[in-house]
Amino acid sequence: MLDIRFEKTTAPKEIPDEDNPLVFGTIFTDHMFLMDYEEGKGWHDARVVPYGPLSLEPSAMVFHYGQEMFEGLKAYKTEDGRILLFRPDKNIERANRTNERLCMPEIPEEDFLAALKAVVKTDEEWIPTKEGTSLYIRPFLIATDPFLGVRPSNTYTFIIILSPVGAYYPEGLDPVKIWIEDEYVRAVKGGIGEAKTGGNYVASMKAQVKAHEAGYSQVLWLDGVERRYIEEVGAMNIFFKIDGKIITPQLNGSILPGVTRDSVIQLCKDWGIPVEERKITIDEIYEAHKNGILEEVFGTGTAAVISPVGQLRWENHIMKVQDGGIGELSQKMYDTITGIQLGKIEDTKNWTVEVK
Ligand SMILES: *Cc1c(COP(=O)(O)O)cnc(C)c1O
Repeated sequence: MLDIRFEKTTAPKEIPDEDNPLVFGTIFTDHMFLMDYEEGKGWHDARVVPYGPLSLEPSAMVFHYGQEMFEGLKAYKTEDGRILLFRPDKNIERANRTNERLCMPEIPEEDFLAALKAVVKTDEEWIPTKEGTSLYIRPFLIATDPFLGVRPSNTYTFIIILSPVGAYYPEGLDPVKIWIEDEYVRAVKGGIGEAKTGGNYVASMKAQVKAHEAGYSQVLWLDGVERRYIEEVGAMNIFFKIDGKIITPQLNGSILPGVTRDSVIQLCKDWGIPVEERKITIDEIYEAHKNGILEEVFGTGTAAVISPVGQLRWENHIMKVQDGGIGELSQKMYDTITGIQLGKIEDTKNWTVEVK
């Protein structure tokens, strides 16, 4: 059992009013979890302490070489007051795969889960309950050696912060416009595309800004070599429904393996909908659209769960999907996954974990 020290805040903040929209990632709860690592000594000093600034050397390696892992998952409060996490084991597994890729220490799975539960339980009053709201959980690991040489750090800090988030779609699912990027690339096979780490995000910002300026909300990335194969959207995986079949790019080393992606694939299989995980080219999408069989497109990720795509722009082609509206499967998938997360639909797959 992880031995956690608790230091409660003496100056609790005001919990935001749920009726005012909570902008994603702007408000943080009263506490955070920290735990340190040192080569030879291992993990130590697990603690839940008041949320606040960290003290780090300016030479800390994370600032210079980007050695960091992050994760994102959510806690929900059910109508009968239980607190549920959605598939935290998948996030923990993925965090450790990221840690391995970035030469950072493994965090024991049971300690990671105990840390999540401890900090969420401490700030449980911050979990909003209005339709569509949740408590976003951001675990991350940073390299802290005060050293400018290039090698993996010997010391690290693991941190978990919490942020109440409002409904992603206050007015119901709202289709997004997607910009298919043909100049910049996000990641290549053999690189760090399948790791959840800041480096992939900074690589994506230039195209994101370009897409925003053109009136598109997110970027869809093509492969970094041929610029033909579909990879994923900014912070979401992507699914296409073509002529009754569901198609999503296969995990190829440069795509982030999403927990929501995995959940969607499993549900499609349960519902008897054919799912193909394979290579898919932008030309295939363009042809499908031209032939009127591109039936639905949606992104999947923890923040929005399901994000229907109403329009895709590729070079000078504009492809409208579902007339800019929401597909039947996108809606059913959203209702089912959020229903399980909120304890409204029976969780036959043991996806939810209760925090007691
Ligand atoms: C986190 C993330 C996703 C979505 O993963 P989920 O586990 O479903 O939230 C997809 N793509 C990228 C680049 C990501 O960082």
